[in-house]
Amino acid sequence: MNSIVEVSNLTVSYDGKRAFEDISFSITPQQIVGIIGPNGAGKSTLIKAIMGLMSIDCGQIKIMNKPIVKVRKEIAYVPQRSSIDLDFPALVEDVVMMGRYPHISWWGFPRKKDYKIVENSLKQVKMYDLRKRQIGQLSGGQQQRVFLARALAQEAELFFLDEPFAGIDITSENMIMGLLKNMCNQGKTLFVVHHDLSKAESYFDSLILLKNKLIACGKREDVFKLDNLRQAYDGKVAAFSNSEEYMVVNQ
Ligand code: ADP
Ligand code: MG
Repeated sequence: MNSIVEVSNLTVSYDGKRAFEDISFSITPQQIVGIIGPNGAGKSTLIKAIMGLMSIDCGQIKIMNKPIVKVRKEIAYVPQRSSIDLDFPALVEDVVMMGRYPHISWWGFPRKKDYKIVENSLKQVKMYDLRKRQIGQLSGGQQQRVFLARALAQEAELFFLDEPFAGIDITSENMIMGLLKNMCNQGKTLFVVHHDLSKAESYFDSLILLKNKLIACGKREDVFKLDNLRQAYDGKVAAFSNSEEYMVVNQ
């Protein structure tokens, strides 16, 4: 089957120190892929490298069988909230309009169509009523929904979300997960960095399990095995008897 993301022998370092090495996998379209692993495993670095935001030591990345520079418009990114300066003065609707920038020529202005797409995106995440608020005045869950709306407004094919559920309320988490599932049903492919093992099986179709190298990649039930998880989490995984539920202890 055709892959939408193909990574071969990818190695990435910061100042000579390896973030991860020799990662290879291939992902088919229209699924939600969870990227899981302990802190410092290289999850954020991996998605940044795939999106062409990092220089790489070696390896190859193909998206829709093309190099990243040819398909940039098709890729939307929701960075980890903690990495964004939320004190900058921007209205909710302006943040979402940023998702339209790849479609607006550098000499141009947003058109009627762009405003309509922004409106629809805000309605999908139920933030339209708060469109005139400053982004910094929202709760964590509301901010996350606005960043998802920005990604929706881009009308991309491939989405990368870094820890979208970190530090947000359960209502926003459920709403975002519902939206991600809808997007997948409409043919989109989503990569979600996630650290909570308890949800990993119900949220994702496939999993990429990392710990500075690839531990396992494939269908969630093939990856979500005690052996694999113990390799990733240094043995600190507890299994509940009579179930396939695992949790990390003392991470
Ligand atoms: P994760 O997202 O799984 O927590 P990261 O991709 O952030 O992991 O980090 C992988 C490794 O790279 C870690 O050892 C981390 O300390 C290191 N690292 C991440 N970002 C930087 C950076 N900007 N400069 C130097 N080292 C970094
Ligand atoms: Mg990270």
